Amino acid sequence: VQVLTKATHGQTRQYNERLVLRTVYDLGPISRADIARRTHLTRTTVSDVIGGLLEQGLVEESGRGPSSGGKAPILLRFVADSRHVIGLDLGEETFSGALANLRGQVSHQVELPVGGRDGADALALVYRLVDQLVEQAGVIRWAVNLDWQDLPLASLLTERYRLPAHVANDSQAAALGEYAFGDRVRTPNLVAIKVGRGVGAGIVLGGQLFQGDSHGAGEIGHIFTVDDGAACRCGRFGCLETVTSAPAIVREARALAVGTPGSLLHRASLRQGDLTLDDVRVALDADDPVACAIVLRSARFLGRAIAGLIGTLDVHRVVLHGSVTAFGATWLDAVREEATRRALPLLSSRTEIDIVTISSGVVLLGASAMLMTNELGLSLTR
Ligand SMILES: [Zn+2]
Repeated sequence: VQVLTKATHGQTRQYNERLVLRTVYDLGPISRADIARRTHLTRTTVSDVIGGLLEQGLVEESGRGPSSGGKAPILLRFVADSRHVIGLDLGEETFSGALANLRGQVSHQVELPVGGRDGADALALVYRLVDQLVEQAGVIRWAVNLDWQDLPLASLLTERYRLPAHVANDSQAAALGEYAFGDRVRTPNLVAIKVGRGVGAGIVLGGQLFQGDSHGAGEIGHIFTVDDGAACRCGRFGCLETVTSAPAIVREARALAVGTPGSLLHRASLRQGDLTLDDVRVALDADDPVACAIVLRSARFLGRAIAGLIGTLDVHRVVLHGSVTAFGATWLDAVREEATRRALPLLSSRTEIDIVTISSGVVLLGASAMLMTNELGLSLTR
């Protein structure tokens, strides 16, 4: 009984601490009295918790606010530089890492080419990346990493650097990045979909990343989409990825270019051999009908998948990122149109589908956001 009571007390304290910290993060500079009003905690509890946060350096006093009759209250604000986090984005060709403060401001960024390394060599490269960033930071409190499936990277990093580490895939990290540091007013729920080499969604519900029972939530790239479809890298056929990903679009363009002698794609393929995603974009921008047809078809399949997410989750905000978003308005409009057409109007009419507002490094920033959520409880919900 004693143990239980203590645990509960500890949990309450942590809960209060996170609530107060979040309030200062979102609303500071703010007085102790205002924090108490906002959080419905007693003023004694707030003062007590603030004392602890001041000691940890997470908040600081920042002058006095306007007086409402009596003595002007002391204001408190969040110290963004009190901790630094390392975000890693371990892609297929490049490992990149960033050092960011708790407002997501990046002070250092390092990129190392993978050059075909795998296994122990790839791990050594990760260590080199983290070492370089640690050097820049001086004192680091937490580290985080992303998108690593072959090794228990989180525990390896935790052991080596004696720092907590968390793992998510790049779609999940990007969702948190946009949620936490995006330009727009925060909504509690958000889905971010990556459409690049692969296709995947990150789902934020109630300010928290939803990872599912085995961290696989949002793996929409392998939802069955087309009968008699192409082979997918997962070993099955006709997955969403086989019709909407960058490689799928390029494959389709190469196939159609051969039989359409008048098209820009055909001319581009004659000029330079194999077509790239950028060739398709250039042809699309020049209103080439073959390129238009390819891009619109793939956009519609994506729109249909989004309609499914809207129907399942009732989210009002869906953001898209990844190399395929380079197709711009033509592609985006087709995605929107199809999503609206295929979802219940009551739900889809309130959903906005956009390209992410963070143009670069959304995955790296998401890594920082994940750490803030997991380690400081800055789940960033209002
Ligand atoms: Zn698949």
